[in-house]
Amino acid sequence: MAVRRIRLFGDPVLRTKAEPVVDFDRELRQLVTDLVDTMQAAPGAGLAAPQIGVSLRVFTYDVDDVVGHLINPSLELSEEEQFGPEGCLSLPGLEYDCRRALRVVAHGFNMYGDPVAIEGSERLARAIQHETDHLDGILFIDKLDREARKAAMKVIREADWAGEQAPIVKESPHATFGRAI
Ligand SMILES: [Zn+2]
Repeated sequence: MAVRRIRLFGDPVLRTKAEPVVDFDRELRQLVTDLVDTMQAAPGAGLAAPQIGVSLRVFTYDVDDVVGHLINPSLELSEEEQFGPEGCLSLPGLEYDCRRALRVVAHGFNMYGDPVAIEGSERLARAIQHETDHLDGILFIDKLDREARKAAMKVIREADWAGEQAPIVKESPHATFGRAI
């Protein structure tokens, strides 16, 4: 069980476009496990790798008792939309109605590199779109109607976690004694 620290709004990793996964190795499987553990501890309906500081195209979801993950997702969205409440573990306490496609077919890979497709509607479709947005540095507040976005930004400015910075790791310039790292 490895619960990782969830990055909050203001952390640059949340605004960075994540890299596609190339190596479907043990490290990737550990990342998926950590994402699931962190998501379930929160608890949340989904979690994307950038939210734990890893800029890779990986997310997990836990919707209607189905836990899953997807790597390097590409989405087909229905034209029909849904409009309902949405929140984000990186924006604690915020919940606003957000417009999303009603149905989604998500193509990608599982952690072993097998191609998979996930079909979902309503809550699952919302989670998949929200998490895939995270991989492009997009947050749900970007998608809100103008008034809701204004209200959200006000809450963020006044939140006690606003501007919280990731800790700076100080490393000695000679720590590796010339060895490659
Ligand atoms: Zn989120």
